[in-house]
Amino acid sequence: MRAEILSVGTELLLGDILNTNAQYLAKELAALGIELYYQTVVGDNPKRLEETLYHAFSRADLVITTGGLGPTDDDLTKETAVKYFDEPLVLDEKALEQIQVIFDRMGKEMTENNRKQAFVPENNGVVMYNANGTAPGIIIEKDGKIIIMLPGPPKEVVPMFENQAKPFLARKQEYTFISRVLRVASVGESAMEAMVKDLIDAQINPTIAPYAKDGEALLRITAKAKDEAEANRLIDPVATALKERLGKSVYAEGETNMETEVAKLLVAQKKTIAVAESCTGGEISSQLVRFPGISEVFLEGCVTYSNEAKMKSLGVSEETLAKFGAVSKETAIEMAEGIAKAAGAQIGIATTGIAGPDGGSKDKPVGLVYIGLYNNGIVEAKEFHFAGNRNKVRERATFQALDWLRRKLQYEK
Ligand code: ATP
Repeated sequence: MRAEILSVGTELLLGDILNTNAQYLAKELAALGIELYYQTVVGDNPKRLEETLYHAFSRADLVITTGGLGPTDDDLTKETAVKYFDEPLVLDEKALEQIQVIFDRMGKEMTENNRKQAFVPENNGVVMYNANGTAPGIIIEKDGKIIIMLPGPPKEVVPMFENQAKPFLARKQEYTFISRVLRVASVGESAMEAMVKDLIDAQINPTIAPYAKDGEALLRITAKAKDEAEANRLIDPVATALKERLGKSVYAEGETNMETEVAKLLVAQKKTIAVAESCTGGEISSQLVRFPGISEVFLEGCVTYSNEAKMKSLGVSEETLAKFGAVSKETAIEMAEGIAKAAGAQIGIATTGIAGPDGGSKDKPVGLVYIGLYNNGIVEAKEFHFAGNRNKVRERATFQALDWLRRKLQYEK
């Protein structure tokens, strides 16, 4: 089955909103093993909508639309679709009742316009009742062509697709595609690929695809299988082989992130932590406190930007700052130890660096960052050179600080 996503709405064309529905649907179609060849966006213009829909069906068997199911005269997706399929519309009492329920809930009078939303194709259609909004979704299947019409708001699209459209499509597919993602830290995408290239080349089902996202390297293992259990049987040994090869760099599987994994380890091991940040400006603290329950272990976070603050709040010595500079291994060490002692924490972590764009020199270029880590009486610092603009340097420093801490907690205890 070849699919096309048709997003209807002038707001989308003008760039006022992001097409998150298309992104969501594209991912879902890939997981279902349905080939998606085109995504189209068209405004609320009857003639262009009609042209686009007809064009979509000239090259696809399945068209999924979002938007344009509203009550006003410029919401024309359904009217255009029934014209293509040559199907009359009739009033669906259940859809009308549901719209009434929504208006009652809002304490508003239902307008005559809204009756339009309760009209559905008389034949060859499936109505997807909408628990989260007024527009029911509609599927029409005729002569080898299928249209799935979804409303616009993502909070309506996602449950309607998940609960109604997806099972409809899954019944038509012999196989599903199921993926598992391994998250790899502190190894670049190309280095990671080189480390597992032979495994990638040898795999047919599941396939292994490396990619990079938000500064992380990821490996997606995708199995083609009859069901989830069979997919997991195919994926498990491949995931194990990849993890053996990449060792400590694989920090997690699936939908998670570095800060969550570090916070989980801190809480599970009941290790108290305090953070002193210069170039990362509170980012490490901010990421850790996203985790509910972190208050059991997170004692204090300080943004110590000036030399005075480093001396006053962390006890960094004036001599160290004068001799080695604020951006130095020595300062990072004193910052990490200083914050741990000041807070009475088992772990102290510190960053100091040059995020740019100015402030770099030949000896200390933009992107140079020192990270200090104090852990139960032992304090160390590491030097990093990060590429990218100011924000990228700060993001990367944050990620590396957390990854270093993760490795300590996971492998050194
Ligand atoms: P309604 O049932 O609310 O009348 P509709 O089917 O007419 O919806 P639109 O009027 O096209 O849908 O869109 C309603 C809102 O949904 C938009 O204002 C926008 O906030 C959101 N929306 C529409 N299309 C998309 C999209 N492709 N991606 C993300 N959000 C969208």
